[in-house]
Amino acid sequence: MNTKHSTATTAVYGSEEMVRPAPTMTIPEEMTTPEIAYRMVKDETYAQTQPRLNLATFVTTYMDEYATRLMNEAIAMNYIDQTEYPRVAVMASRCINILANLWHTPEKEESKSGALGIGSSEACMLGGVSAWLRWRKRRQAEGKPTDKPNLVISTGMQVVWEKFCQLWQIELRQVPLTAEKRTLCPKEAIKHCDENTICVVPIAGVTWTGLNDDIEALDRELDAYNTRTGHNIPIHVDAASGGFILPFVSPETKWDFRLKWVASISTSGHKFGLVYPGIGWVVWRDKSMLPEEMSFSVNYLGAEVTQVGLNFSRPAAQVLGQYYNFIRLGREGYTRVQQNSMEIARYCHKRIGEMECFENYSTEVVNPLFVWCLSEEYRKKAKWTLYDLQAVLQQSGWMVPAYSLPRDIDDIVVMRIVVRQGMSRDMADMLLRDIEAAVKELDSLKYPTSSRQAFEKQERQLGKIFTH
Ligand SMILES: *Cc1c(COP(=O)(O)O)cnc(C)c1O
Repeated sequence: MNTKHSTATTAVYGSEEMVRPAPTMTIPEEMTTPEIAYRMVKDETYAQTQPRLNLATFVTTYMDEYATRLMNEAIAMNYIDQTEYPRVAVMASRCINILANLWHTPEKEESKSGALGIGSSEACMLGGVSAWLRWRKRRQAEGKPTDKPNLVISTGMQVVWEKFCQLWQIELRQVPLTAEKRTLCPKEAIKHCDENTICVVPIAGVTWTGLNDDIEALDRELDAYNTRTGHNIPIHVDAASGGFILPFVSPETKWDFRLKWVASISTSGHKFGLVYPGIGWVVWRDKSMLPEEMSFSVNYLGAEVTQVGLNFSRPAAQVLGQYYNFIRLGREGYTRVQQNSMEIARYCHKRIGEMECFENYSTEVVNPLFVWCLSEEYRKKAKWTLYDLQAVLQQSGWMVPAYSLPRDIDDIVVMRIVVRQGMSRDMADMLLRDIEAAVKELDSLKYPTSSRQAFEKQERQLGKIFTH
């Protein structure tokens, strides 16, 4: 067995490891050289698509060289190790202060109330838990039962809210999105509320459609409702995308702490915060909104560390990346980058809307992403679906996802592009040319594709008839 044992001089692809199946179940008995191990792992991570041509993801795929250097140099830093790296926590609280002020916090304390997470998911969980604990405390003080908490959100929610409700055993009350009501309807949301509602969660930058819930209108409805009923239902804004878009491209829109009932806001630093994954942020309106039970003080490695969060150890590099971006870009830089993304998104939206085969899902573009569907005519006559178009585009390297919308509007199949920093007008033109070419190719098909056949079968079952 050892005859072919690799040594430091073994050529990587002349090694025994390269002709053996990779370990999948048990740890290998013996060592191998770092070069071979590196190659085996590296070769597994060969990208299916060019990260920059991946228009499906919201997550940052470009940072400048200084940011990249800074983060690479910090790769070994543990955020929680505050004796070794006391300044990282300071930097994180500066980021929280900056975000709180961008979102118009009324907090009087110099140090604003917030926490960092691995992404919006952790940040949403923390916002949700704080709403639940505040609700429970109030109910207990009133001597009322606390066994049936619920949370109100639209069916356009991201899966994190399903996780949150499942893990903390909170009833998830979903307000349906419909073809007419494409964002959370404030009046409908109120109908789902009662004394057991821990919070309502509007979304700034709905993942499925790119639209924004009308948070100002929701705040107004909730204010009237809370006054009428004596309840105290707050808002947590899931601003995974919008938290870094609205302050820069639409500063006059009131969606944040300027609204009375907004108690907490979460965002993804690694989406339009322009940092590589994973970082997220949550900010509370003020100290009183962050229950004390959520802060844990531990004596760790010789320092007293107070932390709000689900993870304990976590990478520090992303905090450096976020703080770097704030310094490097400033308000002006963020505004320019986001405005460029908006402009490219609007340009693509316009051009796609002009194509005979497509119809945009909404007339406006309020975040740098949008969805479209097949036009009425094409829905009737085309021999292909958007799933086929996705497959053809993938051949030229683009990742443009097709999917069906949530419950109640799940008969609508859409395609989405997210325009991120790194997408230029030239790339947009290349994409549009490739879409046109792909459509031409699909239009010339003699027979319907299998996904089209499946679609027609389903439509026939619903009583709709097709000819060809
Ligand atoms: C992306 C997203 C999340 C989850 O964020 P992560 O940063 O990926 O954990 C939550 N809510 C919305 C609206 C999102 O778009």
